[in-house]
Amino acid sequence: MNPKHLLLVTAVVAVSSTQALAKLTVVTTTQDPAALTRAVGGDRVDVTALCKGYQDPHFLDAKPSYMLALNKADLVEAIGLEFEIGWLPPLLNGARNPKVSPGNPGYLDLSTLVKPLDVTASADRAGGDVHPFGNPHYWLDPENGRLMARGIAARLSSLDPAGQATYAANLKAFEQQLDVKEAAWSKAMAPLSGQAIVTFHKSWSYFLDRYHLNVVAFVEPKPGSQPTAQHTIEVINVAREKNVKVLLMENFYDRRSPDQIATHTSAKVVFVPSMVGGTDKVQTYFDLFDVVVDAVAAAGTT
Ligand SMILES: [Zn+2]
Repeated sequence: MNPKHLLLVTAVVAVSSTQALAKLTVVTTTQDPAALTRAVGGDRVDVTALCKGYQDPHFLDAKPSYMLALNKADLVEAIGLEFEIGWLPPLLNGARNPKVSPGNPGYLDLSTLVKPLDVTASADRAGGDVHPFGNPHYWLDPENGRLMARGIAARLSSLDPAGQATYAANLKAFEQQLDVKEAAWSKAMAPLSGQAIVTFHKSWSYFLDRYHLNVVAFVEPKPGSQPTAQHTIEVINVAREKNVKVLLMENFYDRRSPDQIATHTSAKVVFVPSMVGGTDKVQTYFDLFDVVVDAVAAAGTT
C-alpha cells in the first residue's frame, strides 16, 4: 500500500469513528416533526419529542425531564405560530442551552416553512385561543409534511455537513413514498369533496382545505373553550340543516358533546389521533394520514 492510500484509509476510519459517536441530538415539541426528522435523519439523529401524540399540546405540563432534554439538544424543532407558547419558552429559558435559543441555528421554527391559514388581523384573545399569526395545526396537510421534511433535511445538513448525502437520499425516499401515499389519500377522499363537516376544534383547516371539505360548525364555542349546552344545540341545528355526516375530533378531547350531536343528527363521530403517537398504530407520518383518511372517508361515504 502506498503511503497516500494509507493516509486515506486512516482518514476514513477517523471520520467514521467520530460519526459513530456524534449523532445529532434533536428535540421536537410534538411527535410529528420527530417522525419526519427520523425519516430524514435515519441513524445520524437521536430524536426525542416532548409532547406525546395522545396529549393535548395546547396545555402541556412541563416536566423537569423536558428541560434536561433541551439542555442536551443540538437542534430544537418547534411547530411555532404560538402553538407551544404556554410551555416552550419557560423550558428553553430553564434549559440554559444558548445553541437552541430562537434565532440560533439550533432552533428551527417549522412554521416558517409553510404558508399559514387563518391569519387574523390582530391578537384578540377574547375570540378564544386565537393564534394571530395563523393556525398552527399545519402538519395535517401532507404537502406541509413535505415542506417540513425538506426544511428539516436542510437544517440537519447545515448542522452536520458530513451527513448531507444521507439526508438528501432519505428525503428523496420520503418524498417518493409521500407521492404514492398522497395519491391513495386523494382517491379515498375524492367522494367527500364539497361535503359539510363539523370539527371539535379549529385544528383541521389544512386537512379540510387539502381534501375540499367545508367546516360548518365547531363543537367548541370558541377555540380552546369547553362545549356548552346552548352551543351544542346550535351545532345540532347546523349539522341537520347541512346534512353533516362527519364530526371530526382529536382523541384527547372529551367526546360527550360530540356523541350528543351525533345522536340527534346524521353525523358520525370520527374520533382519531391528530398527531403521530396518538395511538399505538400511528408511529409514522404516513400512519397518521392512513388512519385519519380511512376513518373520515368511511364515515363520509355511508
Ligand atoms: Zn389549536
